Parts: sequence; C-alpha cells; structure tokens
Amino acid sequence: MTLASFISSGTSHAVLNGLLFFAFVLWLCLGFWAYKDAKRRMEDPLFVGLSVLVALVIPYIGPFIYMLFRPPEYLSDVRERELEIKAIEDRINAADHRCPVCHAEVDESYLVCPVCTTKLKQACVSCGAPLEPIWQVCPYCETPIEPAEPGAPPALGTRRPRRAATRR
Ligand SMILES: [Zn+2]
Ligand SMILES: [Zn+2]
Repeated sequence: MTLASFISSGTSHAVLNGLLFFAFVLWLCLGFWAYKDAKRRMEDPLFVGLSVLVALVIPYIGPFIYMLFRPPEYLSDVRERELEIKAIEDRINAADHRCPVCHAEVDESYLVCPVCTTKLKQACVSCGAPLEPIWQVCPYCETPIEPAEPGAPPALGTRRPRRAATRR
C-alpha cells in the first residue's frame, strides 16, 4: 500500500477524525483548566474571562501564555497570609502602646508623649498616678477625678465657657 492510497483510504479518514476529535477535546480541556486556574488566582471576572479567551483563541499556546502572566499565588493563600499579618499586627498593638499623634512607643504610665509632647493621660491630683479617661475615681488613692483639673489644659471639646474662667 502506497502512502497516497493510504491517505485516500477510509482508515486514514477515521484516524484523522480521531486525531481532530482528540485535539478538540484537548483544546476544550485547556480552556476549562485556564478558567479554573484563573478563578483561583484572580478576583476580577474580567481578568478570568480574558485568561480563558487567551487560552481558547490561541489553541494550545494560549494556556502557556496565560501561565507566564498569571498571578503567582492562589487567592486563598493571599487571604490566609493577610489574616496572619493582621493577627500579628493586632498582637503587636495589644502588646505595646503608641502615641496617637506621632505613633512613638509610649509606656502605659506616661502622662505625655516624650517625642511630640501630646498629653496622653491625666495625672491624679492627689497621688499623681496616670488615669484612664473613663475612670471616675483614682484606683490608687480613691480621690474622685474632676472632669478637667484647674491648670491642666482642657481636653478637646471640654473647654470651659469664657465667663466661668473670668469669675475664677
Ligand atoms: Zn507623640
Ligand atoms: Zn490617686
């Protein structure tokens, strides 16, 4: 049997059809794979669609082009890492106190920030202990806490009316 007669024979047609069908299925599978992979790596449906388009429009080469440009990480891994970082940050924030103005590290007992001199806490008039803003009484010496001590700079929003100040 010569090559020419093989090509024109029915067997060759069946083989060719089989190969074409296999190529078609492979093309579809690669497109589906690109869709599944892109969905795990990209949030934007536009980019997922674009990835599938590249994989399908350029048969067999497209998926490799997609592989070159796809994000290196799965979204689930990115989210997991973000959560871990947030947990670490929360732990750090809970462990040390920072100045609300300049974010310098400050001790819990500081009355003012040593870096930017922002008033952090009120001192007890009797024992000088640093007081939390919500406390009504000093827990160290039982002295009731005045809303604003005379001489101390009033906190924002608690400035006394001018008439009261002149009468004093
Ligand atoms: Zn400060
Ligand atoms: Zn006190």
